[in-house]
Amino acid sequence: MKLIFEKSREGLGCTILPPCDVPAAPLPEGMARKKPARLPSLDENQISRHYSALAKRVFGVNDGFYPLGSCTMKYNPKMNEELAGLPGFTDIHPLQPEHTVQGCLKVLDLAAGYLREITGMDAVNFQPAAGAHGELTGLLLIKAGHESRGDAARTKIIVPDSAHGTNPASAVMAGFSVVNIPSGPDGCIDLAALKAVTGPDTAGLMLTNPNTLGLFDPNILEITRIIHEAGGLNYYDGANLNAIAGIVRPGDMGFDVVHLNLHKTFSTPHGGGGPGSGAVGCKEALAPFLPLAGNVMERGAEERPQCIGRVRAFGGNFLVVVRAAAYLLTLGKENIPEIARNAVLNANYMMERLRAKLPPAYPGPCMHEFVLSLEKLKADYGVSALDFAKALQDQRSCPGIHPPTIYFPLIVHEALMVEPTETESRETIDDAADAFLAVYDQALTDSESLRAAPRTAVIGRPDEVKAARQPVVRFHGA
Ligand SMILES: *Cc1c(COP(=O)(O)O)cnc(C)c1O
Repeated sequence: MKLIFEKSREGLGCTILPPCDVPAAPLPEGMARKKPARLPSLDENQISRHYSALAKRVFGVNDGFYPLGSCTMKYNPKMNEELAGLPGFTDIHPLQPEHTVQGCLKVLDLAAGYLREITGMDAVNFQPAAGAHGELTGLLLIKAGHESRGDAARTKIIVPDSAHGTNPASAVMAGFSVVNIPSGPDGCIDLAALKAVTGPDTAGLMLTNPNTLGLFDPNILEITRIIHEAGGLNYYDGANLNAIAGIVRPGDMGFDVVHLNLHKTFSTPHGGGGPGSGAVGCKEALAPFLPLAGNVMERGAEERPQCIGRVRAFGGNFLVVVRAAAYLLTLGKENIPEIARNAVLNANYMMERLRAKLPPAYPGPCMHEFVLSLEKLKADYGVSALDFAKALQDQRSCPGIHPPTIYFPLIVHEALMVEPTETESRETIDDAADAFLAVYDQALTDSESLRAAPRTAVIGRPDEVKAARQPVVRFHGA
């Protein structure tokens, strides 16, 4: 497909704006461009076709099953989009006087209240823009908490090897050193290993729960107790709250800080760069350190001299919070547990449908997602997780299936990480399971064809390293 610049032809264009009816004002000296901007010239029809063609090359949850493990690519009710698009929410400015934004303040209060109740925390803050940003913010709270007691010795954050990759990265960004602990054969924290590294230098523990294997740690109360007894604090990575929402609460399990991904669990579509919201919740003791919005969105600023500062402008991505509030209000308290029940049911159903040919990497039931290892398939038939994922795209029994997450978590070789999500029907999951099983059968009989997959996708196998290291994001042509 040609770039819009390549389609451009001098002289074409479209004038959809009426003639200017106010006097033209010259730009201040030095502010004007020396050369005109190089913008493409196309007529309106061509522009429309160009963007329609681009949109058709994209795969999203509206196109088909999207079991991208850890990402919760679920259906988000369109009504929440409409509500977040109401002019009363979109046409405001963060510095407007307080009496003109009472409705918006009410939405923020509502959403914070519901999320406090769902997480079991005492305070919720919407400033962080995404999950990893919420992690950084939460860890800065932990740091500020220890420092406020004059305890500077707590420099280490314990992170299990089954944590999401952002956890250790955020700990380093917050100025901690990371102590990695291995999982046991059951995929959960090895308590002896945890005790061995916990001590007076422990600032806290970061737990992704369910972990990246899709497992809920059965020793969670013992784990948080060990950390608290050593004087540390517990951080709950709640990016995948769809696994537990309305069933159990991090605040009741001994956690002091939690972040949520409103753009996963709470009805903001994501992928493609945002906007998101990594809402952070914490217990009373850490609330004085929460970031301040610096405007009417946040009252009581003068009472929080210990605040860690701002992590983003104003109150964060407000419209993401509007969607979350709309979603929670629609569900109501009695239906929120259905999120978790369906997420867990769907994942276990699909895992069982695959088990005979594609057994999970760890035993036991899973939570909202499960992980397969294709190590044996690779050893016996030379079919890798990448080949498998690419071949899924060609499966006609389930048109428009997006491959699952591959090569993550790192502790599973040739991993496929599958998250069907709570919004898929049994029929769709059956079709997807059939597609997985068909690819498996094909691997046994015709592995060569898998290595040539995909045949039907718009692009086949781009050089991912080159795309990441030498991205071409500018048009250099004529
Ligand atoms: C997605 C995810 C994150 C990171 O969230 P971003 O919004 O991508 O920064 C962190 N932890 C877990 C468990 C996740 O699934």
